[in-house]
Amino acid sequence: MKAVQYREIGGRPEVVEIDDPTPGPGQVLLKMTAAGLCHSDIAVMSWTKEQYRGELPLTLGHECVGTIIDASAGSRELITMGEKVLVYGPWGCGRCRQCAQGYENYCYNAGKFGIFPPGLGRAGGLAEYMLVDRARYLVPIGDLDPITAAPLTDAGLTPYHAVMHSLPKLKAHSTAVVFGVGGLGHVAIQLLKHLTPSTVIALDVSEKNLELARKVGADYVFKSDQDAVKSVKDLTEGLGAEVVFDFVGIQATADLGAQMTRVRGDWNLVGIGGGVAKVGFGLLPYECQVFSPYWGTRADLYDVVDLARKGIINIHTEKYALDDAPEAYRRLEAGAIVGRAVIDP
Ligand code: NAD
Ligand code: ZN
Repeated sequence: MKAVQYREIGGRPEVVEIDDPTPGPGQVLLKMTAAGLCHSDIAVMSWTKEQYRGELPLTLGHECVGTIIDASAGSRELITMGEKVLVYGPWGCGRCRQCAQGYENYCYNAGKFGIFPPGLGRAGGLAEYMLVDRARYLVPIGDLDPITAAPLTDAGLTPYHAVMHSLPKLKAHSTAVVFGVGGLGHVAIQLLKHLTPSTVIALDVSEKNLELARKVGADYVFKSDQDAVKSVKDLTEGLGAEVVFDFVGIQATADLGAQMTRVRGDWNLVGIGGGVAKVGFGLLPYECQVFSPYWGTRADLYDVVDLARKGIINIHTEKYALDDAPEAYRRLEAGAIVGRAVIDP
């Protein structure tokens, strides 16, 4: 089959021919119908050999939709052949206390046992076929379009998880700031507008993405720079936002975010661009809480699919053929994608 692989440290994604996979014990085989490209793929491909612990070559793709076409004897009774499903990505051991509480994304054992998410350490879905280790990772999409559904597994799930834990602070008269209106950020804005009464301020460096922010419901949009701090303060009686969501996570946005969060506010650092939160007396507003969320739970993913089926979340996509995935990654890295790039294998 054809697959898009990251083959060696420092390499670029390549389209290659590899063997078709066959399901082993417990596994389910999908015929892929869509896979989204996430900025985390770019991050993983920038890691050194000390930082990257997954397999190489690595078949990329962790936002996956496929059709169930085969399964090993051990899982056949748990699935329906021909069903269209999303793949939940942050796989865990299923047995530790985090997993037991549904927080498989924070599994205590994943690191210890080398349980990697598909596409981020072991074979993912940027290919014609994909193996999924357990039937529990498959969430039916019903009649959703696979192309717009695929990003729900991360660009939808990750901001949903972040918004839900800050929900108590997003009351009437509250303000939420969203840094980075890319794959994740443009969904965050829609979630905030539909799940909270907050005023939503979106910040980006790209005019096109600020335009997308307006289109998906942001109340105010500003260029992400030092002037934006004054703009946010002016809109919040000089106090800053109750909740800041950073979907960039570089030092520039971390430095701005720290100045925009108010006393007892939440600061969610979701982006993994290497930005550091400087925490200490006088460095942050009193009792400001800093969060470093990772992905979301399986229950969250069911919620996200429901929101998409109700038309509450609309993913903006740019569609590419599998052969064009390397070019789509180049565009993602250059900040040229509006919404999410999705591969149609
Ligand atoms: P993306 O490339 O689709 O979007 C990034 C957006 O940030 C773009 O709109 C870009 O114009 C904007 N941007 C760049 N520099 C900026 C700046 N200085 N200020 C404001 N905006 C700026 O990326 P994505 O796929 O949405 O991912 C966003 C980040 O979240 C990445 O760092 C990614 O690795 C990370 N991520 C984290 C998790 C998690 O679980 N913590 C999950 C998925 C992605
Ligand atoms: Zn676990």
